[in-house]
Amino acid sequence: MKQYHLHCLVLLIMNLSSTANAQSFSDVEMIVHPVNKNVSYIEGRGGNIGVIYGEDGILLIDDQYAPLTEKIIEAISNFSSEPIRFIINTHMHPDHTGGNENFGKRGALIVGHENVRSQMKVAGYDQTPPFVTFSKDVNFHINDENIHVFKVPNAHTNNDSFIKFTNANVIHTGDVFRSESYPYIDANNGGSFLGTIEVYELLISLCDENTKIIPGHGKQTTVETVKLAIEMLQEIKSRIQLMIKEGKDLDEILRSDISVDYDNRWDSGRRIGGARGMISVAFSELIKL
Ligand SMILES: [Zn+2]
Repeated sequence: MKQYHLHCLVLLIMNLSSTANAQSFSDVEMIVHPVNKNVSYIEGRGGNIGVIYGEDGILLIDDQYAPLTEKIIEAISNFSSEPIRFIINTHMHPDHTGGNENFGKRGALIVGHENVRSQMKVAGYDQTPPFVTFSKDVNFHINDENIHVFKVPNAHTNNDSFIKFTNANVIHTGDVFRSESYPYIDANNGGSFLGTIEVYELLISLCDENTKIIPGHGKQTTVETVKLAIEMLQEIKSRIQLMIKEGKDLDEILRSDISVDYDNRWDSGRRIGGARGMISVAFSELIKL
């Protein structure tokens, strides 16, 4: 009897969660945010999609989840009837690459760093990898814009690229930078806490005060937010280093409140990673220094 109840409960939970999943996609609304000139970003479910449109066709940065492809196309059709010709993958994660197969079948060329392709295989992902890969950087010259796509040092993963729109003065950072959450460092896929600090410094050097930053998640922002984030990371880093010097282990550090004064700003608890995830990865790197 007990087993029967348990079985029913498991089935109920499974049903509820699959219904919730289906619903979570059917309820997703695509919100188009104009950024500058012919560059926008689309907020839906998953990573922010960068868009540049014009008579040479549409280029997208990332494509969220597969069930959202039609919604993305519909949202774009409200401001452009040109074909979607190119998709750049900022990195491997499914909430950024889930639409690759759908868009690829519709004729888009999927482009990404060579590590996106190889690391997807290592991680056993079933998402379609980029068809065209580059080792360092690649430029797109379309719609009166120079779009520079370049690999950054390992930070969120080992396959992150930034995309800079030179004329519009816009940078899409992928998930290396999230404007409202602590960085999520996917150490299993080559991410690095110290690398994240290094890439934030790089990002700051690429920006002027007017540069518009499209983060992987969160609202569009400016270099001021990146400066706030790097101050926070440097402070967390020195707090962890101090505790390591005092002989504390990871559990003790996690039990202490070293990020408490930052949690309100950077850890809503709604996003993967959070303070604990970040501190754990940071500890594993700082203990070796
Ligand atoms: Zn990601």
